[in-house]
Amino acid sequence: MSHFLLAFLGSLFAGLIIALIDAKFRKPETAFEHATARPFHHPILLRVSAFVVAATWIALLCLVVSMVLGIFLIIPSFGAAFLWAAGATVGLALIYTPLAFTLYCQSCRRHLLVQWTTEPPFAEKQHGLNGWSAIILRVLMRKSFRCMYCGQRYVG
Ligand SMILES: [Zn+2]
Repeated sequence: MSHFLLAFLGSLFAGLIIALIDAKFRKPETAFEHATARPFHHPILLRVSAFVVAATWIALLCLVVSMVLGIFLIIPSFGAAFLWAAGATVGLALIYTPLAFTLYCQSCRRHLLVQWTTEPPFAEKQHGLNGWSAIILRVLMRKSFRCMYCGQRYVG
């Protein structure tokens, strides 16, 4: 079977899974979009999570750059750079995952940094990012952010 066909079937399967998850998603019954902004209960853990995600994005960028340079320039040293970047990306993602499942919204009790639907009802955009990644960016920029599920606003 060709790689193209495998990639095509994989993307169809991924799309089906995302559609099933979106269909299963239920909005919280109570929205807190007009509630008073409140301080987040684990600010240090939230900032650490945001910095880990930023480091993961940088490692991912290094991974792509080393892969492109390795393919087009065919320089053996880029292979080592690729392995370092891949290891850093996977390692940082393994650190981030338990953090993301630890942090939750105090109003609706849903995970703040785990996006269970493609269109969360109260997602805010920030520099072209949306959902959990926009929350990460707003935390890094020391701006207030909103729970993407219930709308509760939190101050840094
Ligand atoms: Zn919430």
